[in-house]
Amino acid sequence: MWLKVTQEATNKAWVVTSKAKLNVLVNCKEVEWRNSFNPEVNAADREDTNTFQVAKNILLEYKPRLMLLHFRGPDAYGHSGDWNKYVNSIAVADSLLFELCNFIDTNDFYSGKTTLIMTNDHGRHLDNIAGGFSEHGDQCVGCSHLNFYATGPDFKEGVISSKKREQTNILPTVAELLGFQIDDSKEIMWELFK
Ligand SMILES: [Zn+2]
Ligand SMILES: [Zn+2]
Repeated sequence: MWLKVTQEATNKAWVVTSKAKLNVLVNCKEVEWRNSFNPEVNAADREDTNTFQVAKNILLEYKPRLMLLHFRGPDAYGHSGDWNKYVNSIAVADSLLFELCNFIDTNDFYSGKTTLIMTNDHGRHLDNIAGGFSEHGDQCVGCSHLNFYATGPDFKEGVISSKKREQTNILPTVAELLGFQIDDSKEIMWELFK
């Protein structure tokens, strides 16, 4: 929708992912949106460190204003059932996010005007539920509790919000940051803003 509103070139919006099949994210089931205003995509089955390098190169080359960057590690290694590999993959994703923050802070184009939102699309089972951390997919507290971290020039600093939110609140919040509205959407996460 951002591409439609702004009429920007498609290479100003990107999906970059560690899973080849997630190239579906650029398109839409809705007939009126299908095959139109799709962002560019770089999707391949690879380690998150490689995906991060690809994303960084895209940021440098095309200077996109909107990017969805996906890491597969925590989910993929969670399914392996190996606790140490799972925890290590979270540490890797963490360190890549730190690198991304530093990149944004020190890059002339992005510094001081870029928002970074970090979240996950699902949690994992609590220890006492069907397979524990290695699986997910029901409504248990472990599966339905997401992480959310956001930083940027429009947001308050050092605040932990106790307001209950859902994934669907992120979309209108991003739209607000980019200066357009989405009709019939959920509430913007106003509590984040200065
Ligand atoms: Zn999974
Ligand atoms: Zn669960």
